Order: sequence, then C-alpha cells, then structure tokens
Amino acid sequence: MLLEDLYKQIILEHYKRPHNFGSLDPHSCRIEGNNPSCGDQLQLDLQLEADVIVAIRFSGTGCAISQASASLMTSLIQGKTTAQARELAVAFHAMLRTGVAAPELGDIAALAGIGKLPARVKCAGLAWHTLEQALDSTGTT
Ligand code: ZN
Repeated sequence: MLLEDLYKQIILEHYKRPHNFGSLDPHSCRIEGNNPSCGDQLQLDLQLEADVIVAIRFSGTGCAISQASASLMTSLIQGKTTAQARELAVAFHAMLRTGVAAPELGDIAALAGIGKLPARVKCAGLAWHTLEQALDSTGTT
C-alpha cells in the first residue's frame, strides 16, 4: 500500500470512528474553538491532575480533516504532562510548515501533507490551537 493511501485511511478511520469523542464532567477546563473559513467547530474538555492531562474529550462538527485531527490529537495527548502537550503542539505546527513529522507525533504523520493545502491548514490546526488555549486558561506552563 502506498504511504499516501495509508495516511488517507488513518484520517478516514479517525473521522468515521473518532477517539475520545464526547464531554467530561467534571472537567478542569472547557474551551471552544472554531475555524470560520471552513465552518469547523470544536469543544475540548480537559481533566488535569497536577500537571498531567488524565482525560481529554472533544466534540463538535466539521470537515474530515478537522475531526480526524482532533481524534488523533486527543489520542496522543491523553496521559501526557502539560509541558509535553505544548512540545507536541510545537512539533505539530512545525510538521505543517515543513511536511516532515517528528517521530513522537506517531500516526499524526498522516496529516503531514496538509501543509501543502493552505486552505486546510486551519482545519488540521484547530484542535491544537484549541488545546493551547485550554492549557493557557489553566495557567500551566
Ligand atoms: Zn475544515
């Protein structure tokens, strides 16, 4: 199977059967993000214990790229510290700029080609920008 086909399959699987879809009650923070250029909407719930993201859920509507990115992001971030989550967000944005995925991004490499599609960069980035807003709102580093 071509790598490009594998990547398409990962994106479609996460879109059709998203991981960590839903909401958390109680939660440490709830942040809404949206991408008006495509109509993608996202609600992100995080539960923190000390500096560890012990649970994360998202809900919302939008295109396959935005929903798959949120599913992939939450799968990677759950169980990480807030500092690790921020480092991964930096790595994700770098991947969209360069087209090269750092190994720690795992399956998220499936989105590496999105950087070549300027109209979709905001779709892929929505989950991560919303995560960064959520981390800012909790006052963590
Ligand atoms: Zn979109």
